[in-house]
Amino acid sequence: MSFDWVNLAYLIAIVLFILGLRGLAHPRSAVRGNVMGALGMLVAVVVTLADQEVLPIGLLAGGIGIGAVLGVGLALSIKMTAMPQLVGLFNGFGGGASVLVAGLAILEIAGVIGTAPGEPDLQLSIAAVASGLIGTVTFFGSLVAFGKLQGIVTEKPVRYFGEQVVKIVIGAAAVSAAVMVVLDPAAYEMFWALVGISAVLGILLVVPIGGADMPIVIALLNSYSGLAAAATGFVLSNTILIVAGSLVGASGIILTRIMCVAMNRSLSNVLFGGVGGEAAGDGEDDVYAGKIRSTSAEEVAMILKSAHRVVFVPGYGMAVARAQTPVRMLTEAMESDGLEVEFGIHPVAGRMPGHMNVLLAEEDISYDKLREMDDINPTFPNTDVTIVLGANDVVNPRARENDSPIAGMPIMDTDKSRTVVVIKRSLSPGFAGIANPLFARDNTLMLFGDGKKAMEELVSAYHEA
Ligand code: NDP
Repeated sequence: MSFDWVNLAYLIAIVLFILGLRGLAHPRSAVRGNVMGALGMLVAVVVTLADQEVLPIGLLAGGIGIGAVLGVGLALSIKMTAMPQLVGLFNGFGGGASVLVAGLAILEIAGVIGTAPGEPDLQLSIAAVASGLIGTVTFFGSLVAFGKLQGIVTEKPVRYFGEQVVKIVIGAAAVSAAVMVVLDPAAYEMFWALVGISAVLGILLVVPIGGADMPIVIALLNSYSGLAAAATGFVLSNTILIVAGSLVGASGIILTRIMCVAMNRSLSNVLFGGVGGEAAGDGEDDVYAGKIRSTSAEEVAMILKSAHRVVFVPGYGMAVARAQTPVRMLTEAMESDGLEVEFGIHPVAGRMPGHMNVLLAEEDISYDKLREMDDINPTFPNTDVTIVLGANDVVNPRARENDSPIAGMPIMDTDKSRTVVVIKRSLSPGFAGIANPLFARDNTLMLFGDGKKAMEELVSAYHEA
């Protein structure tokens, strides 16, 4: 294939990637964005295969077939709540693949594989070293992140004496090994030593972070996997890999920042703070004693019957309980009675960005009803009933207090609505581990129970009321 045609096809693929990313910025265009990104990847893969003679076609087709079966099987079987660890695993594989490609390039330079020793080239060796270091950190860091979310490795932050010094020493050893490989790429053993040191570094960087912060770490590791791929693009002199890797690197870091801002945490606090492993345990008795009013599905149904405007604020509990189906049923019943129903979506409700949007989209709930936090907050004073379903931290008014662990975190102002109904199983705290004064407010009613069961009872009670 001529160079011009290859580059033209790559340009088309790059445009599709960028349009794909743009589409992913909004739930309405997300599916289209996904399709565009996948199409861009198809163009990139087909053109690269046509341009380079890589492997016997049978072997290649076998690899693609096995990968496709595994990928489709995983995507269909995985639970929505387990999506962060699946993404984490995919990032890790991306990093691992980059390391293998970089390693082969170094072996080629050293003359271990290939017909003759390759020409040592400064750009190539720097790129191979960058790919080896970042890719290994991504691979092993992602495995730890996966293990924490899957419950294979302790979710608690693992802290130890001299932790920062140990990390600095290992980091310095990795940089020294990297410099040695760059200076003498033919000494290929040093490359694999670099991989070994980077593996320890990857593990040590993620182990001290609490399980609940893993989605942020996974977004960051996603960015690293992009950087490793971009470095591998330089190793292979492949434009599309450089661009695609850079896009992943940039979007991963932007997502990391969005998540940090939505939690009012700095990245260094996430990486070095060790938050999320244990409850902050601030006097729940002081907050709740004698002030909790529990209610029944029948009472809530009566209140809804006389309401004009109802807002749902879903959170992690809706995802765990898989309560979105009765939510849709109640929404339809209320709308057919002429009520106005909307959904307030907090950017970090649940355990990954867009978690609530995806669950509600599964039920074909119109995107027009889904309103972002800044958009819906001014409407709460005019809302008759707000149903907080399995959400806790994202509706905790303590975020408005300077001395609270979640001080400054933007929240949904549900407490400003006329009546708040909170559906959850108990008074247990959410991810931040702190009591929530919303549950003790005069205008709050607690409907205790599993999210799905409570919502199903509410649907029946509403129809009977
Ligand atoms: P929270 O984690 O604050 O609270 C979830 C609540 O759901 C719990 O209090 C729990 O109470 C309830 N719950 C659990 N299971 C059920 C069930 N089966 N039925 C009903 N309720 C249930 O969730 P939020 O969505 O409010 O907040 C998300 C938190 O996660 C924030 O602190 C955010 O910073 C953090 N986070 C979010 C990320 C993201 O990208 N979205 C990434 C990393 C962290 P009970 O046990 O009493 O039922």
